[in-house]
Amino acid sequence: RQAEVVAAWSGPGRTADGHEVAVLANVADGVSARAATGYPVEGIGLFRTELTFLDRADEPTVDEQVALYREVIDAFPGGKVVIRTLDAGSDKPLRFVDHGAEANPALGIRGNRLTATHPEIRTNQLDAIARAAEESGATARVMAPMIAGPAEAADFAAEVRSRGMIAGVMIEIPSAAILASAVLAEVDFVSIGTNDLTQYTMAADRMSAELAELTDPWQPAVLHLIEGVARAGADAGKPVGVCGEAAADPLLACVLVGMGVSSLSSAPVAAAAVGARLGQVSLAQCRDAARAALATSEAAAARAAAAAVLAG
Ligand code: PEP
Ligand code: MG
Repeated sequence: RQAEVVAAWSGPGRTADGHEVAVLANVADGVSARAATGYPVEGIGLFRTELTFLDRADEPTVDEQVALYREVIDAFPGGKVVIRTLDAGSDKPLRFVDHGAEANPALGIRGNRLTATHPEIRTNQLDAIARAAEESGATARVMAPMIAGPAEAADFAAEVRSRGMIAGVMIEIPSAAILASAVLAEVDFVSIGTNDLTQYTMAADRMSAELAELTDPWQPAVLHLIEGVARAGADAGKPVGVCGEAAADPLLACVLVGMGVSSLSSAPVAAAAVGARLGQVSLAQCRDAARAALATSEAAAARAAAAAVLAG
């Protein structure tokens, strides 16, 4: 029966008592953005731009980048589109960047940190995003990956706002989650990347199948960090989204909404199950489920506690 509810769900995202939650898609390029329009999503919560650059021997020109970004923006006319600047390095090295030899690439010069050695790459990309948005008549929301704290957030936001765009950062390093209020003071929105936030909180490689128990976003330590970020967002009156795969788990999605998360972005194939489940529970139930999960100290217990609340 749940399968029928899921199949029939067509959005928009809201709890049974009408609390709105944007259900969004993570995409890699124009092709996947157009494919996402076949799912019940309101827009794009994460465009991983580095995936369009990975096979390139040279940095794409600004003109080429404008065309790439327009494909994604134009897939959702009038919809929300969040574009992430390059998250290159670590498991996603770029051929046109000398990443150097790093003993621990996941802890190295990746994401926004590349700006220190290659500032022109970010400048070119922001110029291209601004032009793409202008040509499409869209509002551009741009966020940076791998931000460690407020100083990096402020530096990024200044670059984005000087081009007339809305500035956000990902919260995926524990330091940024712990200092969420100070980070939020510098930007217009944040989006929590639960894949890396879990990896760095638990000191467990997200690529390791053997460590799957530790890289489970239900880990209560991770949930506490997310809850702190959501609370800081509510205090600041700024949106807090989740764009890691935690947002694809219907039960965890309810817990995230109960903490105050206002948008959920993941692989579009998960959207209907998430939206349908949210539509079956009240915001008060979501809050109770969040409280129950936060009161545990193991991932399995957190999941079970939330399930027990939401089943009732
Ligand atoms: C994340 O870390 O949760 C995230 C959304 O970014 P990526 O998976 O691209 O690192
Ligand atoms: Mg990440």
